[in-house]
Amino acid sequence: MNITKRALMTVAVAALAVGTLGAPSFAAGKGTVGIAMPTKSSARWISDGDSMVKQFTDAGYDVDLQYAEDDIPNQLAQIENMITKGADVLVIAAIDGTTLSNALENAAAADIKVIAYDRLIRDSGNVDYYATFDNFQVGVLQATSLIDKLQGDGPFNIELFGGSPDDNNAFFFYNGAMSVLQPLIDSGKLVVKSGQMGMDKVGTLRWDGAVAQARMDNLLSAYYTDGRVDAVLSPYDGLSIGIISSLKGVGYGSADQPMPIVSGQDAEIQSIKSILAGEQSSTVFKDTRELARVTVGMVDALLSGSEPEINDTSTYDNGVKVIPSYLLKPVSVDISNWEEIVIGSGYYTMDQIK
Ligand code: BGC
Repeated sequence: MNITKRALMTVAVAALAVGTLGAPSFAAGKGTVGIAMPTKSSARWISDGDSMVKQFTDAGYDVDLQYAEDDIPNQLAQIENMITKGADVLVIAAIDGTTLSNALENAAAADIKVIAYDRLIRDSGNVDYYATFDNFQVGVLQATSLIDKLQGDGPFNIELFGGSPDDNNAFFFYNGAMSVLQPLIDSGKLVVKSGQMGMDKVGTLRWDGAVAQARMDNLLSAYYTDGRVDAVLSPYDGLSIGIISSLKGVGYGSADQPMPIVSGQDAEIQSIKSILAGEQSSTVFKDTRELARVTVGMVDALLSGSEPEINDTSTYDNGVKVIPSYLLKPVSVDISNWEEIVIGSGYYTMDQIK
């Protein structure tokens, strides 16, 4: 519904209320928000969806929430459907951030605003705002946690994993991590025995834990029949779990063969449990309730004709233009602060973890 249609409806509803009850007794719905999420296979996206449904509903919006199970045609069909059904705004966490240009042309033609949610939508001028976390900083936190936990002077063997190459975030995470790791690789303190570096070599399509596990299996059998791997840069908890299971398969995680330091992201429940079990070393908490709050604020502003709050106008060039963004702060989590961060904030209950 566009603003004019919505305004007319508001008047009609108000008139009806005045006519029957003598005074306006309720506000009309504020509009419909189409929310396209990538997959339910990772808990974080379920939290994102749940938080948005709650907060948009509380704010007076109707919500059409769809998950696409990491299938690109499926997500495109869902978005087209939202456009046809007359959504007022689209909030999209893209599976492949480069495949939405045509769909977004249709959205623009129907005067529907578009917010890129968490992941940048690339190669389209029809993206209005971007709500996300400081993705470069996520990588910095991951690498810093590895370095802080390595005991002794080294040199240490490290292997690198990247996220999905069709997700713009993956490059920010990797570059953020390498801003910390590269100088140490150059000085010889860190050694990538496999020599596999760069997103083209270390990327993990669709953030698939099984793909990471298989790659770790290969690295271990090809490069670590002698010597041990001391640290693994993993950009996402789902990959960390796969990597750890590969490491366990060849005997890491015992007294004479301790687990390498392994990073992660999203503070998913299984990874908090893994941290408590002394396996995964750290993760990065990104409060999806906060991301939902920022997004609801953007939608409210867009539909009422005011300016959404942003705090970054330079970082996220999507290939066509720089998308005005709001970046939230990610938080590093390990055994020392997990309780304060994920329980203390009410994100999880103790029952979910123990
Ligand atoms: C998100 C991460 C998530 C990854 C895999 C990225 O775009 O920013 O939080 O770990 O996708 O779902």
